[in-house]
This record gives sequence, structure tokens and C-alpha cells, in this order.
Amino acid sequence: MPGHFPKFTMALPDWIESIVRPGEVFKDRLSRMRMAIRLASENVGRNTGGPFGAAIFEFETGRLISVGVNVVESSRCSIAHAEALAIALAQQSLVTHDLASRSLPALELVTSAQPCCQCFGMIWWSGLRGLVVGARAEDVESIAGFREGPLPDGWADRLRGRRGLLPIGVEVDVLRDEAIVPLQAFLASGRSPYNPGAS
Ligand SMILES: [Zn+2]
Repeated sequence: MPGHFPKFTMALPDWIESIVRPGEVFKDRLSRMRMAIRLASENVGRNTGGPFGAAIFEFETGRLISVGVNVVESSRCSIAHAEALAIALAQQSLVTHDLASRSLPALELVTSAQPCCQCFGMIWWSGLRGLVVGARAEDVESIAGFREGPLPDGWADRLRGRRGLLPIGVEVDVLRDEAIVPLQAFLASGRSPYNPGAS
């Protein structure tokens, strides 16, 4: 019997695999961040979503597991942030809800901009072991006009010092100057941020 409630999927834009594919290796942190920033820039330039990109890598080897870009508007879904797609797709690819599974190498999320209040929670539960951030929330808000929502005081230290759960290493301001470029491009495009109540 067919269901009455819709099914839901979040999908990457078609152009993604012309840029990057799973299994490619990004040895150092800066090359990983440059890929996340490039995804954000391409997403603006190709008009497929907001100015945000993210990617998940094996921490030691740099092997790329998954990527995400913001597809809130095209998905008609407010949770479809870059980090959300990257986490969900990594879990699908690795066939587990737990990215900290003992069968897996440590994984880190590299994101072009500081996670919002939603994505902070997603990261908390994901099993990721590291977070690398480009632009700050204040850059996102002041340049591109998006609202980021409240984070706990000392949010980075709360990830680093979790009790009862594996700690999550956090590095911020990585290539911040480059990471604000897609935010500036979004502003220059004349598009409006899709904050709630803006449509
Ligand atoms: Zn978010």
C-alpha cells in the first residue's frame, strides 16, 4: 500500500563529480580546505545553492569520503546544509550511522564556514573525530546575510573536551581569507539569504 507521507532524499548537484570524486587523496589540511571552499564557490557560481561547501576525509590518509554543498532551496528543506549532506552521505557510503565505529579510520569534516547551530548538533552525534573550519560565523552573517543561530559558549572547547564521548578536534580560521570569497560572491550575485520568513 503506498504511503501517504512523502519520502525524502538529499542529493548533491549533478556537477559535483566533475570537480571531485570519492577516494581522491588530499594529503594536507590546506588542500582539504581548498576543496571545501571550491565546492562553496562552485555552488554559488552554478546557482545551485548557498555559499557553503564541506567534505569528509580520512584524517591520516586524506582520502575523500564524501562532500556536501548547501541545497536548502532546491531540496525544499531547511536542514540541507553542506555539513548535513557530507555527514549523511559519508554514513551511507560507509554503511553505518556511527562514523566513530572501531572498524573505521578517524574521519574529519572540513567546512568552508563555521557550523551553524543545527550542524553543531549533527557533528556532535556523527562520530566525526575532527572539525576544520574556514570562515567564521561573523563572516557568514556580515557578508552574506545568513543567520547562524546560537552556539553554546566555548563551542569548540566543548567538542574538544567531551566527557563520555570521544573528543572532536577543532581547528578554526583555516584559510579564512579564501573561505570568505564564496560569501562575497553570493553577495555580489544579488541573491538573498533564505533565512526563515524571507520567502
Ligand atoms: Zn548548518
